[in-house]
Amino acid sequence: MATLVVARYVIDGTGRPPIADGAVLIENGRITQVGKRSQVEMPAGAEVIDAGAWTVLPGLIDMHEHFGMDAMGNEDQQLRQPDADIAIQATRHARIALAGGVTTARIVGEINFIDVAYKRAIAQGTMVGPRVVIATRPLVATGGYGVFSGFAPADGPEEIRKMVRANIKAGADLIKMFVTGGGTYRTRATPLQHYYSYEEIRAAVEVAHAFGRKVAVHAQGGTGTRYAIEAGVDVIEHGHFLSDDEVALMAKHGTALVATNSIHLYPGVDWSAFPHVVEYRARVEEAAGQNIRRAKQHGVTYTVGTDAMHGLMWFEVGCAVRRAGLSPMEAIVAATKTAAEVCGLAEETGTLESGKSADLIAVAGDPLEDIAALAAVRLVMKEGRRYDPRPLLEGLAPQEGVLM
Ligand SMILES: [Zn+2]
Repeated sequence: MATLVVARYVIDGTGRPPIADGAVLIENGRITQVGKRSQVEMPAGAEVIDAGAWTVLPGLIDMHEHFGMDAMGNEDQQLRQPDADIAIQATRHARIALAGGVTTARIVGEINFIDVAYKRAIAQGTMVGPRVVIATRPLVATGGYGVFSGFAPADGPEEIRKMVRANIKAGADLIKMFVTGGGTYRTRATPLQHYYSYEEIRAAVEVAHAFGRKVAVHAQGGTGTRYAIEAGVDVIEHGHFLSDDEVALMAKHGTALVATNSIHLYPGVDWSAFPHVVEYRARVEEAAGQNIRRAKQHGVTYTVGTDAMHGLMWFEVGCAVRRAGLSPMEAIVAATKTAAEVCGLAEETGTLESGKSADLIAVAGDPLEDIAALAAVRLVMKEGRRYDPRPLLEGLAPQEGVLM
């Protein structure tokens, strides 16, 4: 079965200029040719999808997701529901993410292995959603940030080693650890406090790396962040308040950054009932974008994620342009090719190149001219299977800001 997708522009995700009058040939779920329509040889009987004046680009990769939560509501309350309720809500969020152009999502922490279940369900086709890589249960310290959400704590190198091993045994593709604080619903924000010691972080890194898994840490800046970088973690998540020295240290150790802006900057939610959230959002608002700007200056690998703002990758990528000063092309590469590399999926997805999985989207308009065009997803293809965004959302409770 061959399918030829043709469009006014094809952005292949490598950072190369767009191909005008481009075409992507897909055979058995994989990309076999990409180029000018006049140069791509179409096999007899191939189905043609004419994306007309739309722009085709690689499916987006949301690098920081939790399908069990919804950051537009009170996550603290959400995580106090029974696991089964949380898992059912995850099915809605996964659909919304796919409709919003996300063909791969990196899940950085869920309660009680619900991500193991939904990863299996998506792979089996009993649930519709992006391909996922999962962290399973995040590691949180007793009394530390993240425990408020009902995650079971692990303290000291021994407990940490055991939890890392148990997560991997259950199916974790990566390990997630909450090292510093952040904003919460109930108490004043503590973004620069840290809850794990160097030796605790190091214990997690040693075990995870021995199993070939990367370690991602929630870290906003400060002492704990330096511990994490020096202990050899692979990715700093958020990093809103990273100092220039800390980013230089990341460059030295080869640590990547996953920036998350939409969760604090998206204007569509009224937070006035939660004064601590309002206060924290104001602090992040002030610092927004400096982490990516510094990462770029220091040659640190950077990419982006919504942090459970399902369907809002267009806004997250837009923040990287508006706040961090990236060009639209740099922001698209960060959300596709670089993201795949940080996930360890560079062979499989992230660019439109021969041999890769057919993960692509078509958006109305030209995102290189106006990055907001990413909000207008008109076609999603994951592993060669076509989805029309609007039917994906039919019957679901609507979500703010999705599919403009
Ligand atoms: Zn998160």
